[in-house]
Amino acid sequence: MLKDLFMGLSQNQFLNSAAKKYGLKLGAQSVVAGTNIEEAIQSIKELNAHGISCTVDNLGEFVFKNEEAIAAKEQILKVIEAIHDNQVDAHISLKPTQLGLDIDYNFCVDNVREIVDRASQYNMFINIDMEDFKHLQPTFDLLDELSLEYDNVGTVIQAYFHNALEYLEKYQNFRIRLVKGAYKEPEEIAYQDKKEIDANYIKLIEWHLLNGKFTSIATHDHRIISHVKEFVKKHNIPHDKFEFQMLYGFRKEFQLKLASEGFNFCTYVPFGNDWYGYFMRRLAERPQNLNLVAKQVFNK
Ligand code: FAD
Repeated sequence: MLKDLFMGLSQNQFLNSAAKKYGLKLGAQSVVAGTNIEEAIQSIKELNAHGISCTVDNLGEFVFKNEEAIAAKEQILKVIEAIHDNQVDAHISLKPTQLGLDIDYNFCVDNVREIVDRASQYNMFINIDMEDFKHLQPTFDLLDELSLEYDNVGTVIQAYFHNALEYLEKYQNFRIRLVKGAYKEPEEIAYQDKKEIDANYIKLIEWHLLNGKFTSIATHDHRIISHVKEFVKKHNIPHDKFEFQMLYGFRKEFQLKLASEGFNFCTYVPFGNDWYGYFMRRLAERPQNLNLVAKQVFNK
Protein backbone atom coordinates (compact mmCIF):
# COMPACT_ATOMS: atom_id res chain seq x y z
CA MET A 1 0.00 0.00 0.00
CA LEU A 2 2.61 2.54 1.13
CA LYS A 3 4.83 1.42 -1.73
CA ASP A 4 2.08 2.22 -4.25
CA LEU A 5 1.37 5.55 -2.58
CA PHE A 6 4.99 6.71 -2.78
CA MET A 7 5.38 5.35 -6.32
CA GLY A 8 2.32 7.39 -7.29
CA LEU A 9 3.75 10.48 -5.60
CA SER A 10 7.10 9.97 -7.36
CA GLN A 11 5.30 10.20 -10.71
CA ASN A 12 3.35 13.36 -9.87
CA GLN A 13 4.72 16.00 -12.21
CA PHE A 14 3.10 18.92 -10.39
CA LEU A 15 4.68 18.02 -7.04
CA ASN A 16 7.93 17.26 -8.85
CA SER A 17 8.24 20.74 -10.32
CA ALA A 18 6.86 22.45 -7.19
CA ALA A 19 9.53 20.76 -5.03
CA LYS A 20 12.34 22.22 -7.16
CA LYS A 21 11.52 25.71 -5.90
CA TYR A 22 11.87 24.93 -2.22
CA GLY A 23 15.33 23.34 -1.88
CA LEU A 24 15.85 20.06 -0.08
CA LYS A 25 12.93 19.36 2.25
CA LEU A 26 11.25 16.50 4.16
CA GLY A 27 14.58 14.95 5.13
CA ALA A 28 15.80 14.70 1.54
CA GLN A 29 18.98 16.49 2.61
CA SER A 30 20.22 13.35 4.37
CA VAL A 31 20.08 11.33 1.13
CA VAL A 32 20.82 14.04 -1.45
CA ALA A 33 24.33 15.51 -1.43
CA GLY A 34 23.38 19.15 -1.85
CA THR A 35 21.82 21.23 -4.58
CA ASN A 36 24.96 22.34 -6.45
CA ILE A 37 28.21 20.95 -7.84
CA GLU A 38 30.39 22.44 -5.07
CA GLU A 39 28.37 20.64 -2.38
CA ALA A 40 28.47 17.39 -4.35
CA ILE A 41 32.26 17.63 -4.75
CA GLN A 42 32.63 18.26 -1.02
CA SER A 43 30.61 15.10 -0.26
CA ILE A 44 32.71 13.12 -2.74
CA LYS A 45 35.93 14.31 -1.08
CA GLU A 46 34.63 13.16 2.30
CA LEU A 47 33.75 9.71 0.92
CA ASN A 48 37.03 9.44 -1.00
CA ALA A 49 38.87 10.09 2.27
CA HIS A 50 37.43 6.75 3.48
CA GLY A 51 38.55 4.93 0.34
CA ILE A 52 35.07 5.11 -1.20
CA SER A 53 34.66 5.91 -4.88
CA CYS A 54 31.55 7.76 -6.12
CA THR A 55 29.13 7.80 -9.02
CA VAL A 56 27.45 11.18 -9.38
CA ASP A 57 23.86 11.74 -10.48
CA ASN A 58 22.70 15.22 -11.42
CA LEU A 59 19.07 14.62 -10.42
CA GLY A 60 16.37 15.24 -12.98
CA GLU A 61 13.30 13.64 -14.53
CA PHE A 62 10.15 14.54 -16.48
CA VAL A 63 12.15 16.35 -19.14
CA PHE A 64 9.93 17.11 -22.13
CA LYS A 65 11.52 20.31 -23.44
CA ASN A 66 14.69 20.52 -25.54
CA GLU A 67 16.10 23.36 -23.46
CA GLU A 68 15.73 21.34 -20.23
CA ALA A 69 17.61 18.40 -21.74
CA ILE A 70 20.35 20.68 -23.02
CA ALA A 71 20.64 22.37 -19.62
CA ALA A 72 20.98 18.93 -17.99
CA LYS A 73 23.70 17.99 -20.50
CA GLU A 74 25.60 21.24 -19.79
CA GLN A 75 25.35 20.63 -16.06
CA ILE A 76 26.68 17.06 -16.41
CA LEU A 77 29.58 18.36 -18.55
CA LYS A 78 30.36 20.79 -15.70
CA VAL A 79 30.30 17.91 -13.21
CA ILE A 80 32.79 15.99 -15.38
CA GLU A 81 35.08 19.04 -15.44
CA ALA A 82 34.70 19.49 -11.67
CA ILE A 83 35.58 15.83 -11.03
CA HIS A 84 38.65 16.25 -13.22
CA ASP A 85 39.71 19.63 -11.80
CA ASN A 86 39.36 18.42 -8.22
CA GLN A 87 41.02 15.08 -9.02
CA VAL A 88 38.38 13.20 -7.03
CA ASP A 89 37.63 9.50 -7.49
CA ALA A 90 34.23 9.65 -9.20
CA HIS A 91 32.34 8.97 -12.40
CA ILE A 92 28.88 9.79 -13.75
CA SER A 93 25.49 8.09 -13.62
CA LEU A 94 22.87 9.58 -15.92
CA LYS A 95 19.26 8.99 -16.88
CA PRO A 96 18.41 9.01 -20.60
CA THR A 97 15.03 10.68 -20.00
CA GLN A 98 16.83 13.63 -18.43
CA LEU A 99 18.77 13.97 -21.67
CA GLY A 100 15.76 13.95 -23.95
CA LEU A 101 14.74 10.31 -24.49
CA ASP A 102 11.05 11.25 -24.20
CA ILE A 103 11.54 14.07 -26.72
CA ASP A 104 13.44 12.38 -29.54
CA TYR A 105 15.71 9.33 -29.53
CA ASN A 106 18.38 10.83 -31.81
CA PHE A 107 18.43 14.08 -29.85
CA CYS A 108 19.06 12.03 -26.70
CA VAL A 109 21.83 10.01 -28.39
CA ASP A 110 23.58 13.24 -29.40
CA ASN A 111 23.36 14.63 -25.86
CA VAL A 112 24.65 11.45 -24.24
CA ARG A 113 27.36 11.08 -26.90
CA GLU A 114 28.72 14.54 -26.02
CA ILE A 115 28.90 13.53 -22.36
CA VAL A 116 30.52 10.15 -23.07
CA ASP A 117 32.99 11.82 -25.41
CA ARG A 118 34.02 14.43 -22.83
CA ALA A 119 34.35 11.77 -20.13
CA SER A 120 36.45 9.56 -22.42
CA GLN A 121 39.03 12.36 -22.62
CA TYR A 122 39.53 11.89 -18.85
CA ASN A 123 39.20 8.07 -18.85
CA MET A 124 35.98 8.52 -16.92
CA PHE A 125 33.20 5.94 -16.92
CA ILE A 126 29.58 6.83 -17.72
CA ASN A 127 26.85 4.62 -16.33
CA ILE A 128 23.53 4.80 -18.10
CA ASP A 129 20.98 4.22 -15.35
CA MET A 130 17.99 2.06 -16.19
CA GLU A 131 14.55 3.58 -15.74
CA ASP A 132 11.14 1.95 -16.22
CA PHE A 133 10.29 -0.75 -18.79
CA LYS A 134 9.00 1.78 -21.31
CA HIS A 135 12.56 3.11 -21.61
CA LEU A 136 14.41 -0.21 -21.40
CA GLN A 137 14.79 -1.03 -25.10
CA PRO A 138 15.63 2.54 -26.17
CA THR A 139 18.25 2.62 -23.41
CA PHE A 140 19.80 -0.62 -24.69
CA ASP A 141 19.71 0.86 -28.22
CA LEU A 142 21.50 3.94 -26.93
CA LEU A 143 24.16 1.77 -25.31
CA ASP A 144 24.55 -0.31 -28.50
CA GLU A 145 25.06 2.83 -30.53
CA LEU A 146 27.52 4.54 -28.19
CA SER A 147 29.55 1.40 -27.59
CA LEU A 148 30.45 1.33 -31.30
CA GLU A 149 32.50 4.48 -30.64
CA TYR A 150 33.36 4.37 -26.93
CA ASP A 151 34.32 1.81 -24.31
CA ASN A 152 33.65 3.96 -21.23
CA VAL A 153 29.91 3.20 -21.07
CA GLY A 154 27.87 0.63 -19.22
CA THR A 155 24.40 0.17 -17.84
CA VAL A 156 22.16 -1.42 -15.24
CA ILE A 157 20.25 -4.70 -15.28
CA GLN A 158 17.18 -4.95 -13.03
CA ALA A 159 16.63 -8.37 -11.46
CA TYR A 160 12.85 -8.03 -11.19
CA PHE A 161 12.48 -8.59 -14.94
CA HIS A 162 11.72 -12.17 -16.02
CA ASN A 163 14.14 -11.62 -18.92
CA ALA A 164 16.96 -10.15 -16.82
CA LEU A 165 19.40 -13.03 -17.43
CA GLU A 166 18.82 -12.75 -21.17
CA TYR A 167 19.69 -9.03 -21.00
CA LEU A 168 22.75 -9.77 -18.90
CA GLU A 169 24.01 -12.43 -21.32
CA LYS A 170 23.71 -9.92 -24.16
CA TYR A 171 25.59 -7.21 -22.21
CA GLN A 172 28.03 -9.43 -20.32
CA ASN A 173 31.06 -7.67 -21.81
CA PHE A 174 30.01 -4.33 -20.41
CA ARG A 175 30.65 -2.97 -16.98
CA ILE A 176 27.26 -3.74 -15.44
CA ARG A 177 25.50 -2.55 -12.30
CA LEU A 178 23.10 -5.17 -10.96
CA VAL A 179 20.09 -3.99 -8.96
CA LYS A 180 16.78 -5.43 -7.83
CA GLY A 181 14.81 -2.73 -9.70
CA ALA A 182 13.12 0.45 -8.45
CA TYR A 183 10.00 0.98 -10.60
CA LYS A 184 6.53 -0.50 -10.50
CA GLU A 185 6.27 -2.99 -13.35
CA PRO A 186 3.39 -5.32 -14.32
CA GLU A 187 3.44 -8.99 -13.31
CA GLU A 188 3.48 -10.09 -16.97
CA ILE A 189 7.08 -8.91 -17.25
CA ALA A 190 8.42 -8.58 -13.70
CA TYR A 191 8.51 -10.59 -10.48
CA GLN A 192 6.44 -8.97 -7.73
CA ASP A 193 7.41 -11.23 -4.86
CA LYS A 194 10.49 -10.18 -2.87
CA LYS A 195 11.73 -13.78 -2.54
CA GLU A 196 11.57 -14.28 -6.31
CA ILE A 197 13.30 -10.96 -6.99
CA ASP A 198 16.06 -11.78 -4.46
CA ALA A 199 16.56 -15.26 -5.96
CA ASN A 200 16.85 -13.83 -9.47
CA TYR A 201 19.18 -11.11 -8.20
CA ILE A 202 21.55 -13.70 -6.68
CA LYS A 203 21.41 -15.73 -9.90
CA LEU A 204 22.44 -12.67 -11.95
CA ILE A 205 25.22 -11.68 -9.56
CA GLU A 206 26.72 -15.17 -9.57
CA TRP A 207 26.41 -15.46 -13.34
CA HIS A 208 28.09 -12.13 -14.04
CA LEU A 209 30.85 -12.64 -11.48
CA LEU A 210 31.72 -15.93 -13.19
CA ASN A 211 31.18 -14.86 -16.81
CA GLY A 212 31.23 -11.13 -17.13
CA LYS A 213 33.34 -8.07 -16.97
CA PHE A 214 33.39 -5.79 -13.92
CA THR A 215 30.26 -6.19 -11.75
CA SER A 216 28.77 -3.46 -9.55
CA ILE A 217 26.53 -5.05 -6.95
CA ALA A 218 24.18 -2.23 -5.92
CA THR A 219 22.15 -3.17 -2.87
CA HIS A 220 21.67 -2.29 0.80
CA ASP A 221 20.67 -5.87 1.53
CA HIS A 222 23.15 -7.33 4.05
CA ARG A 223 21.95 -10.87 3.31
CA ILE A 224 22.82 -10.53 -0.38
CA ILE A 225 26.15 -8.89 0.49
CA SER A 226 27.08 -11.74 2.88
CA HIS A 227 26.17 -14.23 0.18
CA VAL A 228 28.41 -12.42 -2.34
CA LYS A 229 31.32 -12.35 0.11
CA GLU A 230 31.11 -16.13 0.54
CA PHE A 231 30.62 -16.72 -3.18
CA VAL A 232 33.69 -14.73 -4.26
CA LYS A 233 35.80 -16.46 -1.61
CA LYS A 234 34.66 -19.92 -2.72
CA HIS A 235 35.30 -19.17 -6.40
CA ASN A 236 38.53 -17.20 -5.92
CA ILE A 237 37.08 -14.16 -7.64
CA PRO A 238 39.54 -11.29 -7.16
CA HIS A 239 38.32 -8.10 -5.49
CA ASP A 240 39.19 -6.02 -8.56
CA LYS A 241 36.44 -7.82 -10.55
CA PHE A 242 33.58 -6.30 -8.58
CA GLU A 243 32.45 -3.58 -6.21
CA PHE A 244 29.57 -2.97 -3.86
CA GLN A 245 27.44 0.13 -4.36
CA MET A 246 24.95 1.87 -2.09
CA LEU A 247 23.06 5.14 -2.21
CA TYR A 248 24.36 8.25 -0.47
CA GLY A 249 23.09 8.56 3.11
CA PHE A 250 21.88 4.95 3.45
CA ARG A 251 23.56 2.46 5.83
CA LYS A 252 26.57 4.77 6.24
CA GLU A 253 28.31 2.60 8.85
CA PHE A 254 27.89 -0.46 6.65
CA GLN A 255 29.38 1.41 3.67
CA LEU A 256 32.45 2.35 5.72
CA LYS A 257 32.78 -1.18 7.09
CA LEU A 258 32.80 -2.81 3.64
CA ALA A 259 35.36 -0.28 2.38
CA SER A 260 37.55 -0.86 5.44
CA GLU A 261 37.37 -4.64 4.88
CA GLY A 262 39.12 -4.08 1.54
CA PHE A 263 36.16 -4.34 -0.82
CA ASN A 264 35.86 -1.85 -3.66
CA PHE A 265 33.02 0.40 -2.68
CA CYS A 266 31.19 3.07 -4.66
CA THR A 267 28.55 5.44 -3.31
CA TYR A 268 25.85 6.78 -5.62
CA VAL A 269 25.85 10.53 -4.98
CA PRO A 270 22.70 12.32 -6.20
CA PHE A 271 22.57 16.10 -6.08
CA GLY A 272 20.48 18.96 -7.43
CA ASN A 273 17.11 20.64 -7.05
CA ASP A 274 15.16 17.90 -8.78
CA TRP A 275 15.23 15.63 -5.71
CA TYR A 276 11.53 14.86 -5.29
CA GLY A 277 11.01 11.81 -7.58
CA TYR A 278 14.26 10.23 -6.39
CA PHE A 279 13.31 10.73 -2.74
CA MET A 280 9.77 9.34 -3.19
CA ARG A 281 11.16 6.19 -4.85
CA ARG A 282 13.44 5.67 -1.84
CA LEU A 283 10.39 5.95 0.45
CA ALA A 284 8.51 3.48 -1.75
CA GLU A 285 11.36 0.97 -1.49
CA ARG A 286 11.56 1.13 2.24
CA PRO A 287 8.79 2.84 4.16
CA GLN A 288 11.09 2.77 7.22
CA ASN A 289 12.89 5.57 5.39
CA LEU A 290 9.94 7.61 6.57
CA ASN A 291 12.06 7.96 9.72
CA LEU A 292 14.08 10.44 7.71
CA VAL A 293 10.97 12.50 7.15
CA ALA A 294 9.73 12.14 10.72
CA LYS A 295 13.06 13.22 12.18
CA GLN A 296 13.07 16.24 9.93
CA VAL A 297 9.50 17.25 10.72
CA PHE A 298 9.70 16.76 14.50
CA ASN A 299 13.29 17.88 15.20
CA LYS A 300 12.43 21.51 14.69
P1 FAD B 1 15.81 -4.02 -0.31
O1 FAD B 1 15.15 -5.19 -0.96
O2 FAD B 1 15.15 -2.69 -0.37
O3 FAD B 1 16.15 -4.33 1.18
C1 FAD B 1 16.53 -5.63 1.61
C2 FAD B 1 16.82 -5.63 3.09
O4 FAD B 1 18.01 -4.87 3.34
C3 FAD B 1 15.73 -4.97 3.92
O5 FAD B 1 14.71 -5.85 4.21
C4 FAD B 1 16.53 -4.54 5.15
O6 FAD B 1 16.73 -5.64 6.02
C5 FAD B 1 17.87 -4.16 4.57
N1 FAD B 1 17.94 -2.71 4.29
C6 FAD B 1 17.68 -2.10 3.12
N2 FAD B 1 17.87 -0.77 3.23
C7 FAD B 1 18.25 -0.55 4.49
C8 FAD B 1 18.59 0.61 5.24
N3 FAD B 1 18.57 1.83 4.68
N4 FAD B 1 18.93 0.47 6.55
C9 FAD B 1 18.94 -0.75 7.13
N5 FAD B 1 18.63 -1.89 6.47
C10 FAD B 1 18.29 -1.79 5.19
N6 FAD B 1 17.12 0.86 -9.62
C11 FAD B 1 16.78 0.94 -10.93
O7 FAD B 1 15.69 0.52 -11.31
N7 FAD B 1 17.65 1.51 -11.84
C12 FAD B 1 18.89 1.95 -11.48
O8 FAD B 1 19.64 2.43 -12.34
C13 FAD B 1 19.27 1.86 -10.11
N8 FAD B 1 20.49 2.26 -9.67
C14 FAD B 1 20.84 2.05 -8.36
C15 FAD B 1 22.13 2.38 -7.90
C16 FAD B 1 22.53 2.09 -6.61
C17 FAD B 1 23.92 2.42 -6.16
C18 FAD B 1 21.61 1.45 -5.70
C19 FAD B 1 22.02 1.08 -4.31
C20 FAD B 1 20.33 1.17 -6.12
C21 FAD B 1 19.93 1.47 -7.43
N9 FAD B 1 18.64 1.19 -7.85
C22 FAD B 1 18.32 1.30 -9.19
C23 FAD B 1 17.58 0.84 -6.85
C24 FAD B 1 17.41 -0.66 -6.69
O9 FAD B 1 16.83 -1.21 -7.85
C25 FAD B 1 16.53 -0.98 -5.48
O10 FAD B 1 15.25 -0.46 -5.72
C26 FAD B 1 17.02 -0.45 -4.16
O11 FAD B 1 18.42 -0.56 -4.05
C27 FAD B 1 16.36 -1.20 -2.98
O12 FAD B 1 16.73 -2.54 -2.99
P2 FAD B 1 17.93 -3.15 -2.10
O13 FAD B 1 18.64 -4.13 -2.96
O14 FAD B 1 18.79 -2.04 -1.59
O15 FAD B 1 17.31 -3.92 -0.89
